[in-house]
Amino acid sequence: MNASTSLLLNPYLEHLPVYQPGRPIDEVARELGLPADDVIKLASNENPLGPSPKALAAMQQSLRSLHLYPDGNAFYLKRHLADKLRVAPENLILGNGSNEVIEFVGHALIMPGSEVVVSEFCFAVYPIVTHLCGGKLVSVPAREYGHDLPAMRRAITPRTAVVFVANPNNPTGTLASDDEVLELIHEAPPHVLVVLDEAYIEFRDRPLDLLELIRSGSKPNLLLTRTFSKIHGLAGLRLGYGIGGAEIIAACEKVRQPFNINTMAQVAALAALDDEDHQRRTKENNAVGLRFFEEAFRALGLLFVRSHANFVLVKVGDGQRVFNDLQQQGVIVRPMGGYRLPEWIRITVGTPAENQRYLASLKQALGRA
Ligand SMILES: *Cc1c(COP(=O)(O)O)cnc(C)c1O
Repeated sequence: MNASTSLLLNPYLEHLPVYQPGRPIDEVARELGLPADDVIKLASNENPLGPSPKALAAMQQSLRSLHLYPDGNAFYLKRHLADKLRVAPENLILGNGSNEVIEFVGHALIMPGSEVVVSEFCFAVYPIVTHLCGGKLVSVPAREYGHDLPAMRRAITPRTAVVFVANPNNPTGTLASDDEVLELIHEAPPHVLVVLDEAYIEFRDRPLDLLELIRSGSKPNLLLTRTFSKIHGLAGLRLGYGIGGAEIIAACEKVRQPFNINTMAQVAALAALDDEDHQRRTKENNAVGLRFFEEAFRALGLLFVRSHANFVLVKVGDGQRVFNDLQQQGVIVRPMGGYRLPEWIRITVGTPAENQRYLASLKQALGRA
């Protein structure tokens, strides 16, 4: 038994949940006594084609300089990213994953008494950061599993510091309409930072381009976040970025630790940005996989949410039981109880072979084999 201590713990930690990641392949393989090669993970929206090959080659080159600290300002990466996006480097902040950018936003803007508006089925990191900073979460009921942006706009008060919108959304894969996104951005009062989390934007065919609002400087209260974890296949390196006006970027820079982006991540991302072949193949594999899942779920009569990202939310009854059953078969997916969707599981699009194996295992788990 633990003796209670007298530590002056931050009281905001008391009700703070610990983020539950998708289970690692090695951990599940150890548990099941299976070789790791026999286990597939379709749980964390990772890239089934692996890392960008150009990124891998660039990292090999830079191994020998790992005794040196990284460039604390990631000069070359920022400059290249700025060129690609046609923004100024002053419009960019790099994070150890875009999760860290979300944390910067918390430290820069969310204080005890601040309100933070999110959608009912939002990305798990928004509530964690909000509560960590002592903010009050204002969760707006979803509309067909997606964001009800007009209602979120109406939930804004003088105390609202931030509105978080992931578009496409995780864990539901839903997409808000361009009109409603623009309306939110244009009608949010200037004291409210609108964070548009674009982690999955590269999977869309004709994404709404909000960069002009940054270039023109007309929306200082808009921050876009993106990541190298999904389309570029570099989740293990931890690299994401924010794109915004000079004021919010400068505020985030103050709360950023000096060497948050390691050397490997900098060189890999620099190379991945030019690996258009890998990005195209990733997007195509994803489109094929989404169609495969949709047809399969329809044939099985399973309810699913139409996805615009690289995963699908599907209703299976007892989600935890199906998750356990799939895991016994060496297929790791994501149960959704933590998101208050206990009847659903979330499945990441894999390679065609992984998708087939998942489907066969799902049928087995549902007694439909
Ligand atoms: C995957 C994901 C991210 C990216 O996280 P990283 O920290 O960059 O790996 C951000 N937002 C959402 C909504 C996501 O699903």
